[in-house]
Amino acid sequence: MNTFALVIQREKVKKGNRTSVQWREEIQVDGQRCGQNYCLDYYELVRSLSADGDYFIFTCGCGEAGCAGISEGIRIRYAAGVVEWHVVEPAPEQRFRFAEQQYAQAIHAGLSAATKALPSKGTFPLGYTFFSRTQFKQCVETAQIACERIEFAGAFGRD
Ligand SMILES: [Zn+2]
Repeated sequence: MNTFALVIQREKVKKGNRTSVQWREEIQVDGQRCGQNYCLDYYELVRSLSADGDYFIFTCGCGEAGCAGISEGIRIRYAAGVVEWHVVEPAPEQRFRFAEQQYAQAIHAGLSAATKALPSKGTFPLGYTFFSRTQFKQCVETAQIACERIEFAGAFGRD
């Protein structure tokens, strides 16, 4: 089984004698960054918690995955408490298996951690887009609901 992590952190970057703040946004599989050089689509990532499908989690800075040369989404399938990721693009082709609960909790934890660093007003750039606090909180809540559903299924049996 692989391990999924979502890292969203504000970092201070020093260039000469100027310091600026940047977001570090990474999906990590087994501690290694996945989809380097691509922007994240948090809406797609959160949607991937609800059902099988092809999800364009890695995208272009403008939000059009095709623009960054990605024509196939990540094929995500659920079976018996396991989430399978079949990454065709970006290359190299890879397959990962995550425990459903670990996957959902990691997404929720990553998004929750980011909320603490968000400015209280206005919009802020995350992934390919700009979020208001309210919009971002909706992503966090969707992830939380997924965690609760998975825990419930684990405790009381599936379907
Ligand atoms: Zn683009």
